[in-house]
Amino acid sequence: MYGTGDCFKEEAMPARTTRQEARQKMIDTFMSSLDKVIPVDESVPLRGRTFLDWEKQAEQLKRTVIPILLEERAALEETAVVEQGGSCPYCGSDRVYVEKQTSRVEVHSPEGPVVLEKQHCRCRCCDGSFSPSVP
Ligand SMILES: [Zn+2]
Repeated sequence: MYGTGDCFKEEAMPARTTRQEARQKMIDTFMSSLDKVIPVDESVPLRGRTFLDWEKQAEQLKRTVIPILLEERAALEETAVVEQGGSCPYCGSDRVYVEKQTSRVEVHSPEGPVVLEKQHCRCRCCDGSFSPSVP
């Protein structure tokens, strides 16, 4: 669905992405969306005849590009990956560790679904499981 459809990397943390990787992903995403509206090849006919058609194409571009931007921007945030889980929300213990396994959660932005990576913490004291709080 998302342009070239490159999925997320499964590699280990730390700073889930670099600015350069994030920028390149955005550029690739945007360019492939732009190609659908205004192909660089002059022999490829332009699609749509009415302003409404073009608006729909612009809407499609927005819905492709903005969720990727949000995902990439979130991945750049230093707090995207925590090393310490803080204290346990159940028993207050600080004997908390961050589990290696992460999961993906889909949040809904106005422009469509955005997939974020989520860490999980576990408490050694009460075995409670929770997410590290992110400001
Ligand atoms: Zn606990």
